[in-house]
Order: sequence, then structure tokens, then C-alpha cells
Amino acid sequence: MLGLMQDRPLLISQLIDFAADFHGDTEIVSRTVEGPIHRYTYSDAHRRAKQVSEALAGLGIRQGDRIGTLAWNGYRHFELYYGISGMGAVCHTINPRLFPEQIAYIVNHAEDQLLFVDINILPLVESLAPQLKTVRHIVAMTDRAHLPADIDIPNLLVYEELIGGQPGTFEWPVFDERTASSLCYTSGTTGNPKGVLYHHRSTILHAYASALPDGIGISARDSVLPVVPMFHVNAWGLPYSGCLSGAKLVFPGAALDGASLYELFEAEGVTITAGVPTVWLLLLQHLQAKKLKLSTLRKSVIGGSACPPAMIETFKRDYGVDVLHAWGMTEMSPLGTVNTPKAKHRKMSEAEQNAVKAKQGRVLFGVEMKIVDDSGKALPRDGKAFGDLLVRGPWITSGYFKDEGGNPLRDGGWFPTGDVATLDADGYMQITDRSKDVIKSGGEWISSIDLENAAMAHPAVAEAAVIGIHHPKWDERPLLIIQKKAGADVDKDALLGFLKDKVAKWWLPDDVTFVDSIPHTATGKILKTRLREDFKDYKLPTA
Ligand code: ADP
Repeated sequence: MLGLMQDRPLLISQLIDFAADFHGDTEIVSRTVEGPIHRYTYSDAHRRAKQVSEALAGLGIRQGDRIGTLAWNGYRHFELYYGISGMGAVCHTINPRLFPEQIAYIVNHAEDQLLFVDINILPLVESLAPQLKTVRHIVAMTDRAHLPADIDIPNLLVYEELIGGQPGTFEWPVFDERTASSLCYTSGTTGNPKGVLYHHRSTILHAYASALPDGIGISARDSVLPVVPMFHVNAWGLPYSGCLSGAKLVFPGAALDGASLYELFEAEGVTITAGVPTVWLLLLQHLQAKKLKLSTLRKSVIGGSACPPAMIETFKRDYGVDVLHAWGMTEMSPLGTVNTPKAKHRKMSEAEQNAVKAKQGRVLFGVEMKIVDDSGKALPRDGKAFGDLLVRGPWITSGYFKDEGGNPLRDGGWFPTGDVATLDADGYMQITDRSKDVIKSGGEWISSIDLENAAMAHPAVAEAAVIGIHHPKWDERPLLIIQKKAGADVDKDALLGFLKDKVAKWWLPDDVTFVDSIPHTATGKILKTRLREDFKDYKLPTA
């Protein structure tokens, strides 16, 4: 027997309708790429998102068409999120930091019809334009007055002119909630990037989960500044959970340096922020150098790669900010776990609480998770056994756009994350490593993340990376690669001495080397493929 409740589809347009209806005067503040701070309200954004839909319809865009964006976090990008998905088209966010040939590949693969581009990304698009086979128009996300004079792109349109004449009264269509809403390519450190195609239902369920108190925890009293870009898994869903909660949104534009972020945090009363560890390194350096305090920030969601415990402790001890360590993937919309404590943790010592906080977080309702051994057998949830991490749930992908790479799912619909992890009885998950980064020494595994975290606690270390180097006896042994803080000094012996009582003896790196800068991917992760390439002929002193 079926129940008798209404079967209203979950649609992204409902989020912005709700925000405009009941939080119509709540502000959205943006640092624009043009320079000045822009502020308006959910009510204004709602009208302009509808103008976007009207303009798209006028250009012949239909449901299912892909519309690309190459843009920073800002109010026009926010309007595109809703204007594109709201009318049934697919908002395809593209990372402008990718290699140009990768961007061209992604646009062609997605068959984007239009590309909306921030003005400081126009020169890149100008050089790529001849390769973009399906793009009919490129739209500069600005007004006529700020359009760079020296840009020569055929069929270029200007955002404010495109939407300006539209009435803003568009009636959002109602359609199946499994209709595609947005598209994001994984950065693909190996092989071509693959597209993850979200739908309206997955986006709304993910927004609910992320807004919960033990998710990111967002309310109408919050001011939320996503540092994580709107092209990196939809800024981890914050533009959606922000509407759902009626929170104030603050968009930092292209200025992601410590000083610019600090200014916005303080001026806009920011309470929640989110980003990858590398951006917080810059912010913390700025705060330390200028002896600044954060007066309103309560929570910083840090994920995308492992957040070093030293960073979690610094945020709390020096600035009173709780770090929520979170883990997810493009394939998971992205949230899988968020690290919030349970009541029983309050009674624990600080050291014990810190050990819990260092884990990647507690699984959210809606994400099923298990770890398995090589034969696929489930391993115990005891916090010790580690194995391949598998997930399934309503905001996790069932396969890639255009079936790229075939069916990724294992029996029972489980998606293999490529991460190796432990799970404990309380639902906390800890990543040991990405399976391709783990160091295999004498048949045992060494976690590169644990070694990096331990090294990052040294005061002279700006960033640490660990890779496995071939060893004639042990197969692989760890090499510690260090970027020192400016003006600080430390040598190999001092670092190994520092690590001695922090990791198992047989985990101690066989060598330490120093580099000017550690390379990062377009989403700010340590680029281990490059390091492995750079050090492929490296001879360990123990070899
Ligand atoms: P990309 O940025 O490469 O496009 P994703 O953002 O989807 O891809 O990356 C997902 C991967 O990032 C995870 O499988 C995991 O290896 C890593 N990751 C994400 N969050 C964390 C975290 N908190 N700790 C450790 N690794 C993480």
C-alpha cells in the first residue's frame, strides 16, 4: 500500500523561491572581479535569476542543454546557478585553473552551448575560443562599462545587457526531480576528466543534510563565506544550503589572499567559512604576521585533502574557531562525513578530543559507508582495520557523464572512493591514504597523510608531502619533502628527531629533502603525480 502524501518533486528553483519569500531582505555580499563590493538581497537575486532563465530561453536554450561557467564566487555566478538549473538546463561549472587544453576538452565533452565568463578569465577563453566546437556565445559576466577593450571574441555578449531587458517574472517549470541540474568534472590527475551529473533531487537532499547541526550546521543567523570555489563541487553545496537556511552569503570573488579574506570576514560578520587546507595556510600566516583576531568566525569547514591536526589546534587555540574536518568527493556532491563531536567526547581529555577531531568526520545520514578488504569482504568498524572505502546513497553518482569509464559501481551499487580508511563504532571515518598514495613497505602500509600531518606540526614547516620511493629491500620507503616557512630553518636530522616519538619507528622517512614550493592541483591538493615524476630517479641513502 502506498502512502498518501503529496508527491511534489524536489527542485532547485524552490530553494531560491523560499529564500526570496521568507528571507527576502537577507543580504548577499560579493567582492566583484571588477573591484568594488556589491550587495543586494535574496529578493534581488531571485528576480535576476529569473531574468537569466528568460534570457536563456530567448537564446533558444532548452531543458538538458549544458551551459558552462568559468567564474569565481560572486553574485552573478549565484544567479546562474539558479537561472540555469531553474529552467531545466544544466549548470556546468568549470575550473579556470585547469590546463587550457583540459578546459577545451571539458567544454567539448559537455557540449556546452554557452559559456559565462568572468572578465579576468576572458583572455584565457579568447585563446581557446577557436577550439570550442559547440559554444554559440560567450557571455562576459559584467556590464558594458567594465568590458575589457582589448578582448576579441566572436559573438561575445555582455551579461547585464543580456538579462537587463528581461521582465524577471519567469514561471519555473515543474519536472521530474531526477532531471539533470548541474555538471562538474573531477580534476582527473590521471586520464581525462570525467563528468559528474547531479540532479535536482540529489542537490536538495544534500543541502538538507549539510545544513543539519551535525552536518555543516547552517542557520538563518549565519553569515557564510565559501572560499571553496563555486567550480569545486558547487562550493560544497553552500549556495544551495545557504538558500535553504536563509543564511547571509558572502562571496570573495577572485581575491583569495589572507588580507582580502580577513577584511570580508570582519566586515560582513562571517560565522561559517569553508575551503581546502592550502588557503587556510595563507590566512593563518596573515593573521600571525599582523597579530589579528577573528571576532565573528565560529566554524571553518576544512576538507578536500587532510587537514593537519596542527591547523585544527591553531584555529581553536589562537582564534577560537572550531575546525570541522570534512571529507567528500565530486562524485558525492561532495559531503560524506563532517567531524562534529558527540556528547560523550566532552568528558574526554583535550588530547583524546584532538585525536577524534583529526579524523575525517562522522558519516552523515544518507551516506552508507563500509570498508572492505581485497576480496570485497566487509571489515570491522573498530577504528583499526583499514580497507577500501565504499559508499552509496542518493547524492552519490551512479556513473559518469556519457558513460565515460563504464560502470564504476561494485555489487550492491557501492561506489569505490579510491580512499583507504578506518571506520569506528561511532561512525567516524579516518582516511589512511588515497589508495594510489599509500606507501607499501615490506608488505605493510605506511600512511603518507599521517607522516605529513606529523611533519606539519613542526614550526619551520610550511608544507609537507610524503611519497614512496623504490627500495631494493622494502619495495617502497617514504621520502619526506618539505617546503620551509619563509625565514625559518630546519634540517633533516632535526625533522627526523621531531618525528621520532610521533610515528612508528619503521614509518620514519628514509630521507628528507627540501623544495622551494610543493606543487598543487587545480583544486589545491598536493600534486603527488608530479612529485613522483620529479623524484622518480631519487636514490634513498638506505637503498
Ligand atoms: P578533485 O579535487 O581531485 O577533483 P575531489 O574533490 O572529488 O577531486 O577529491 C576527492 C578526494 O579528495 C577524496 O577521494 C579524498 O582522497 C580526498 N579528500 C577529500 N577530503 C579529504 C580529507 N578531509 N582528508 C583527506 N583526503 C580528502
